[in-house]
Amino acid sequence: MKLAMIGFGQAGGKIVDKFLEYDQRTQSGIVRAAVAVNTARADLMGLQHVPEENRVLIGQSRVKGHGVGADNELGAEIAEEDIDEVQGAIDNIPVHEVDAFLIIAGMGGGSGSGGAPVVAKHLKRIYTEPVYGLGILPGGDEGGIYTLNAARSFQTFVREVDNLMVFDNDSWRQSGESVQSGYSEINEEIVTRFGILFGAGEIGGGDDVAESVVDSSEIINMLAGGGVSTIGYAAEEVEMQNSGGLLSRFTGNGGGTGEDTAHTTNRITSLVRKAALGRLTLPCEIQGTERALLVMSGPSEHLNRKGIERGRKWLEEQTGSMEVRGGDYPVSEPNVASVVLLSGVTNVPRIKELQQVAIEAQDNIDDIRQESETNLESLVEDDEDELDPLF
Ligand code: GDP
Repeated sequence: MKLAMIGFGQAGGKIVDKFLEYDQRTQSGIVRAAVAVNTARADLMGLQHVPEENRVLIGQSRVKGHGVGADNELGAEIAEEDIDEVQGAIDNIPVHEVDAFLIIAGMGGGSGSGGAPVVAKHLKRIYTEPVYGLGILPGGDEGGIYTLNAARSFQTFVREVDNLMVFDNDSWRQSGESVQSGYSEINEEIVTRFGILFGAGEIGGGDDVAESVVDSSEIINMLAGGGVSTIGYAAEEVEMQNSGGLLSRFTGNGGGTGEDTAHTTNRITSLVRKAALGRLTLPCEIQGTERALLVMSGPSEHLNRKGIERGRKWLEEQTGSMEVRGGDYPVSEPNVASVVLLSGVTNVPRIKELQQVAIEAQDNIDDIRQESETNLESLVEDDEDELDPLF
């Protein structure tokens, strides 16, 4: 599936950059165009793969290229004021060649948190292609304002996109390591999961033929109708056979013995379980998921229809969903991986907790603001009100 990616803010830009690197490395062909938008010049300059002409600095008259700090209301205002500049970069994208837009942003900051929903709204008004969001939730140790920003941006972003896929930095923090130092691994994790998911719908001429293809329209159906999605992933290293690929199709499943086939099937089903029950991009209760898509990637001799079908059935039982699809994505890498997209999840304690912390932060901020106003007044005014200001 071919995407036009728009990274808004620092996190958004860095992740789009990483997607471009992934695309070049794996030839997945999922990034048809990439744009980075920011109010901070330095963040745009730090990118390595997004073409210079697709880096859009907005809000120069307001913040002079220095960013908006963590003020996401200002981020949203600037995005609205300068939407024509963003559109200018999108005008250079051959939109008829893309299957969907994907807007990526950190939801705890300022530019992306405020600006991403504005761009989503704008794109939905102008184009018929679906508009997806990839929203990054902040780590719990980032502080109240980040949580408040994320909670408000989440509400707005979900409303403006066809589907909001969420990645929670908090659940990916390695123990004893700050989120900051772990970003490059976290970003690698993000692009691997999304790369396989979207890559499955984009099988090029040189690839092995998939047995049960997941095409773009299937992914679009999965993500249709609004809502929130999370993604599971599990992988296992395998040995590659040089004679894999198409030939093995003619010699039976995996080209091996009955034992090999059973082993292949078992590996697939266990990877599906690990993906769905392991660490999801947004931790949640999977029972009650509206729709699910399973993509198995790996060397074709290590994939088989039986395994995928079993994995799919298992997902049906676990989620209670009637719309579970499965397909394979043959790639020449010594890894069999299972990616499970759970679309339309609603039982997400993490979001409820985020909102609770955000409300507390909002109340605290209001209290502190009021208190400092009173304190300032009592500092500046003399006790008996005997002095007059100059004017
Ligand atoms: P903005 O530039 O004002 O939009 O702010 P940022 O993009 O820096 O957003 C800050 C939030 O994004 C923080 O809460 C971090 O949790 C998150 N973040 C920043 N950089 C990265 C990154 O490279 N990867 C990931 N996964 N999250 C990031």
